[in-house]
Amino acid sequence: MSDPVLELLQKQGLGYQVSGRDYLIRCLNPEHDDSNPSFRVDRVTGVAHCFSCGFKTNIFKFYGVFTNPVPIKIAKLKEKLAELKTNHLGLELPNGYTPYTKSFRGISAKTLKWFGAFYTNQVEKLQDRIVFPIKDITGKTVVFVARHTLSNGNPRYVNYPSGVKMPLYPTYLPSGYKSMVLVEGIFDMLNLYDKGLENVVACFGTNTLQNDTKQKLLPFKAQGITHVYIMFDGDEAGRKAAQTLKPLVEEDGFVVEIVNLNDDTDPGELDQDDVNSIKEYINK
Ligand SMILES: [Zn+2]
Repeated sequence: MSDPVLELLQKQGLGYQVSGRDYLIRCLNPEHDDSNPSFRVDRVTGVAHCFSCGFKTNIFKFYGVFTNPVPIKIAKLKEKLAELKTNHLGLELPNGYTPYTKSFRGISAKTLKWFGAFYTNQVEKLQDRIVFPIKDITGKTVVFVARHTLSNGNPRYVNYPSGVKMPLYPTYLPSGYKSMVLVEGIFDMLNLYDKGLENVVACFGTNTLQNDTKQKLLPFKAQGITHVYIMFDGDEAGRKAAQTLKPLVEEDGFVVEIVNLNDDTDPGELDQDDVNSIKEYINK
């Protein structure tokens, strides 16, 4: 793991001490004769501040160094993870849960297994449903998303427990991808994944990513994703939501493209040929 701040200090021949989250060095302000180092440099971001003379800078900027933001993002993500892990227990799978071993609505047993699908008759709200444990960036389950196994089952989806802030899911993509496809629902994601488009992420409804956009996209930025394709449902709500979301994701530094589907077509209904052409287009 590279450490750009430390590398820069060493390259500039600056003496330092480690002090909590900072490096302590002699002040870089030429007007401050700093005999007792009081200049703190954040070990991750390079943001620096002298507590004696008040001089503020970022050491990368100070030395005119262009920085690749990805290692900084990764370091920030790791900090965030460590912080989250300490106060986050995660949900346990219900007692007596049974892993799903068959296919369901055209999604192969293999894909369902990969995403941890199960059923249970121990939790009333999850009965008669195919259930998916939804994990956040810590790898712990934060909510169960359960789809009724009957096509006329009501409600079709249950989030259990209710009221949980939905993460993007999955949070980790197979390595090497520069782009990802954002879809509305878990079965949209499952269908594309099942047909070979692995860099697909569900945002659980059209509006959830409009809140905490930066926070939710951070893990993907840290994984090196630079392009986001928004592929919401081919209806008015989906198109409107995609237009609203696009500038928010762009603001966070991604290149964003909206993929418009035909009227009344969901990504969950696309067939193998459709998925092949989308895959070819986005991984070009
Ligand atoms: Zn100073």
